[in-house]
Amino acid sequence: MDSPTLVVLAGPTAVGKGTVVRALLQHHPQVVLSVSATTRAPRPGEVDGTHYHFLSPQAFDELIATGGMLEWALVHGRHKYGTPREPVERALNEGRPVLLEIDLAGARQVRKSFPDALFVFLAPPSWEELERRLIGRGTEDAAERERRLETAKTEMAAKDEFDVIVINDDLDQAVSKLAELMGLS
Ligand code: 5GP
Repeated sequence: MDSPTLVVLAGPTAVGKGTVVRALLQHHPQVVLSVSATTRAPRPGEVDGTHYHFLSPQAFDELIATGGMLEWALVHGRHKYGTPREPVERALNEGRPVLLEIDLAGARQVRKSFPDALFVFLAPPSWEELERRLIGRGTEDAAERERRLETAKTEMAAKDEFDVIVINDDLDQAVSKLAELMGLS
């Protein structure tokens, strides 16, 4: 079987998607990570165009209206996040492996336009561990953490929709598993 060139990685808040993706890219720089657009404000240290394209709500809606978004969703009931279409299609046309790190609603949309993509769910070893990681990273206040845990419950309930579930218990193992699934060497 050919290796999937489009891989969608989803999973609940604080499960460690960002860390897994960073490690994967370090080992496999040929992978193209889609830089999402968002209407949320940058966190300290986040760079526009690298971590996200930080857009105003108007600019974001303009991209949707002109067909420039491959998928988009209102995440945690607050901000819009989406995948700009053009860079993904260009990379796929060049035959490069493309990774999308998006939420459940986004993954469901991508499934409709790219049924052959590989859908991977990154899961925590336990619910308690997920809560611990969210509190531990300390980037959200209590109200935002509650909102994110509510979303996480819905996401965890949908994990069987995915082709593969990878448990992020040990970082190296999770990264190796994802690389193997993507057919990277
Ligand atoms: P954060 O605000 O912590 O950076 O991201 C919040 C959530 O937004 C993450 O769970 C992530 O999966 C989701 N997300 C990030 N980029 C996109 C995107 O392009 N599309 C969709 N649908 N969700 C995204």
